[in-house]
Amino acid sequence: MTENAPRYDLVLAGGEVFDSATGASQVTDVAVTGDRIARIAPGLAADAREVVDCAGRYVLPGLVEGHTHIFAEVSKVGAPPDEAHLHRGVVAACDAGTVGASTFAAFERYVAAPAKLRLVNFLNVSVLGLIDFRFGELMNPDTLVPEDALAVAAANPHRVRGFKIRLSEDVVGHNWRPLLKRSLELSADAGLPLMIHIGETPEPLPAVLEMLRPGDVVAHCYTGKPYGILADGTVLPEVYAARERGVLFESAHGKSNLSFKVAEPAIAQGFYPDVITSDTSARNWRGPVFDLVTSMAKLRALGMTMEQIVPRVTSAPARLTGLDAEGYGSLVEGGPAHVTVLADADEAVLPDAAGNQITAPRLEPEVVLLAGERVPTVPWRGLPTDQAGAAGRAS
Ligand SMILES: [Zn+2]
Repeated sequence: MTENAPRYDLVLAGGEVFDSATGASQVTDVAVTGDRIARIAPGLAADAREVVDCAGRYVLPGLVEGHTHIFAEVSKVGAPPDEAHLHRGVVAACDAGTVGASTFAAFERYVAAPAKLRLVNFLNVSVLGLIDFRFGELMNPDTLVPEDALAVAAANPHRVRGFKIRLSEDVVGHNWRPLLKRSLELSADAGLPLMIHIGETPEPLPAVLEMLRPGDVVAHCYTGKPYGILADGTVLPEVYAARERGVLFESAHGKSNLSFKVAEPAIAQGFYPDVITSDTSARNWRGPVFDLVTSMAKLRALGMTMEQIVPRVTSAPARLTGLDAEGYGSLVEGGPAHVTVLADADEAVLPDAAGNQITAPRLEPEVVLLAGERVPTVPWRGLPTDQAGAAGRAS
């Protein structure tokens, strides 16, 4: 190396750089060399081969999506890994129950292993997985085969990080209690968390919550469907009690499980998701969900700050999925150079999943680094504000 050779391959200069543990931010530079974060400090641009001006931008660890659906061509809900995730700022994602023990081998071979972004999953307790949402995967309770789920989890620790049960009445019928009990037992046997999809459960939420243990995850905490977290507009005391015991709540927007009329009062009462997730799928990635950054923009519009949002799309989902051990979800010197730079975009009409809309500024990924490599971004799939209403109809 000559005396004048730049020390860094790339410097993201002058952005608002977030600490993913605390959500605190400072305006500084982030230098990348090879696949690592070389340095975080002001004044690094002079020593860079390439400089990207990030003034006025948010510089985050690469986003980690804690709940999505990626298994196209086998499952009707599988969304594309790159176009709907990586190219929209997500560098690691957890497939939440699209895959069951009987379809896992195909998921591993055709989807997860070849994917550019890091994929893990919560294995559906039904061997069928979520192949077709029209036919509940546990309507035949015999499809819950603990030995099969445990065998797949044991053989694939790099991939399986938990289990998933959908507890809606159209999935479990009136069998929810024994099915949940068996799912809790098998996840305890594996030493992994259980994710529980709520919204139209056969009984009110407290009956479900009282069965859950620390580390289990309630998906769709802001669902507008019956038996959610609110009663008369107030977050149920049983919900706070479950959180105090260590039960986690994630937002999992999805095609039908984010209602602004639930999220807004819950946020006003200080009840935030432990993990902010989009529940992106083939049914919603062209709206009403679009992607994780749009889910972030919606919760920001409802009152959460970036300081509150950032840990919930980086360090928290990385911890939940064990991906923190591989350096995902944090932005530190010496760590992997997974970075997502977001910009405030123009206002747009943003729909929820219950027929409501807000007009609010979106967030747009401008730079995405995966292990130091710049990956392309794709434009938002919604419509500008001057075509108001169209975005809602697209859902
Ligand atoms: Zn889902």
